[in-house]
Amino acid sequence: MLLPMFQRLSMAFLVVSILHLRVNAQSTTADRTSEVGEAAITDPNEECSPYSYPPVDNQLSSFPAIWEAASILPNDSTAQGKWNSISANIPSNISVKTQPPASNYSSNDPDCWWTYSLCTEPKLSGLSTDITAAPEPSTLGYGFDDGPNCSHNAFYDFLQSQNQKATFYYIGSNVADWPLEAQRALADGHEICAHTWSHPYMTTFTSEAAFAELWYSMQMIKLAVGVTPTCWRPPYGDVDDRIRSIAHALGLQTIMWEYDSLDSDINGNSITDQTVDTSYNNFIQTANNGTFNYTGAIFLTHELNNFTMSEAVKFYPQFKSSFQHIVPVGVSLNKTQPYVETNYSLPTFEQYISGTVTVNGTRVSPNSTSSSESSTSSDSLSSTSSGTVSGNGLPTASSSNAADRLTDTGHYSILTSILFLISYLL
Ligand SMILES: [Zn+2]
Repeated sequence: MLLPMFQRLSMAFLVVSILHLRVNAQSTTADRTSEVGEAAITDPNEECSPYSYPPVDNQLSSFPAIWEAASILPNDSTAQGKWNSISANIPSNISVKTQPPASNYSSNDPDCWWTYSLCTEPKLSGLSTDITAAPEPSTLGYGFDDGPNCSHNAFYDFLQSQNQKATFYYIGSNVADWPLEAQRALADGHEICAHTWSHPYMTTFTSEAAFAELWYSMQMIKLAVGVTPTCWRPPYGDVDDRIRSIAHALGLQTIMWEYDSLDSDINGNSITDQTVDTSYNNFIQTANNGTFNYTGAIFLTHELNNFTMSEAVKFYPQFKSSFQHIVPVGVSLNKTQPYVETNYSLPTFEQYISGTVTVNGTRVSPNSTSSSESSTSSDSLSSTSSGTVSGNGLPTASSSNAADRLTDTGHYSILTSILFLISYLL
């Protein structure tokens, strides 16, 4: 009796060892060289370990230092030429601001400074009104700031499983650090807008420095993803007519919001996880009250860390029931050409709500070899994982047990192994 039992145990040990090796092999042989490989990683720690991506890494000397305030590089004749061509049209009578606003700033708000008065209707002629809402009724212009976050696969997998597209406002420095994560947004059919190079209060910058913040974020997205954005969102909403005119000269539409989840503002004191839940619930209540029956909404949320992404997942079902349509902001505006390059399109609003959430286009790869991309969204990446997410340069808010609703496929396979073992021993 002893020998068969020993054999069984040995056999079981062997099975466990092989399964363990398989799990380990999966985690150590991930493809860190392609968007598809990077998107397939489910361990957040592995996602967030740095990798080398030569098409971007080899060009980093042509960009400002990552996470440092941008300025035109001394030898960058292209950027200098662009600045020279637009600088005459940038108002010189609008002063550089301080943060918080100085007490002597005119209460008339002559500069339409959002930080001072929430102004979104420019007072300088020739500028468009900021976008603060999705124009279509009962429609949410869905979007997330501050990405790409290195551990966003679980969140992007969730969006893919829902066949849901969104607008992502990417920080140039994050794109430089995580170019394959940035590529995933385009591959998944999302819209990409710029969110500056280093996330400053833009009105505190000189016009030339503000230009550099926008210019280099656009160029980095072009280098890493292959497309040049035509929309941007000011960090902290800090924009005035001087900054708007620089963005306008670069072909960037200014996208703001009217409702704020406060998900990036957690400070451990006045703003907590509970405050964010309340903001979400208030916004949902506002939608349920019929406030958006004639004009839709934009709600400020972030791809900043595990908490902010988990909140988005947690409240998505309620958004679905409170809004008739949830679409990228560009789709709500019927902006079918979201980039300078014309070989990538977004669907019209009508197409999107009829089920065509992406349209055929040629995906421009960063090393200039273009490949055809199918429009049909795939659910092949439906696995999700949980874990701590690093903010990567931005303040990291506390993580939340909201992440627990994301399941880890790795744990599933270990659980299966244990069940198999038990049944074998019995
Ligand atoms: Zn931001």
